[in-house]
Amino acid sequence: MAYDRRIELMTGDITSLAVDAIVNAANPSLLGGGGVDGAIHRAAGPGLLAECRKLGGCKTGEAKLTAGHNLPARHVIHTVGPVWRGGSGGEEALLALCYRASLGLAATQRLRSIAFPAISTGVYGFPRPRACALAVDETHRFLLKDGTMERVIFISFDDETEALYRRALGLD
Ligand code: ADP
Repeated sequence: MAYDRRIELMTGDITSLAVDAIVNAANPSLLGGGGVDGAIHRAAGPGLLAECRKLGGCKTGEAKLTAGHNLPARHVIHTVGPVWRGGSGGEEALLALCYRASLGLAATQRLRSIAFPAISTGVYGFPRPRACALAVDETHRFLLKDGTMERVIFISFDDETEALYRRALGLD
């Protein structure tokens, strides 16, 4: 498949990005945690936690929107990835849902730029190559039908993950 020029790869810290929305790989409580979730809450400040408390949690595969508070990003889209349990529990379909729900929510809010971390590939243990390929596939599918989104950034914390995205995009 041809690589969609609206997709960009970056390496670094998602909390530094001045985009319409950054996506948080949250846990179902939406009350913060480790990894990217902890980094986002630290950078956004206590206003984010206060707003999240009112949301009543989030189910795996769903997505909820908040403001960005002290972040350079205008919004945070919180989505809950699946915990990897060997692959027979519908983990792939649930991770695909995270991308679909996040992009769909961004589109309904008319957001034009969004950045994703590699959801579920940290403590949730989803195999990285499959997770990166799935993120790219779902985003391609969404962009084929969407006329609003201008930038979808996949931000990696390490070079190995960026290489997996490059492969999934057919850039190597
Ligand atoms: P999960 O619980 O969904 O597995 P984690 O936060 O443990 O979420 O990890 C998800 C991915 O986010 C991992 O690939 C991790 O390396 C990456 N990550 C952690 N902190 C940041 C950050 N500040 N910016 C971008 N990516 C990050």
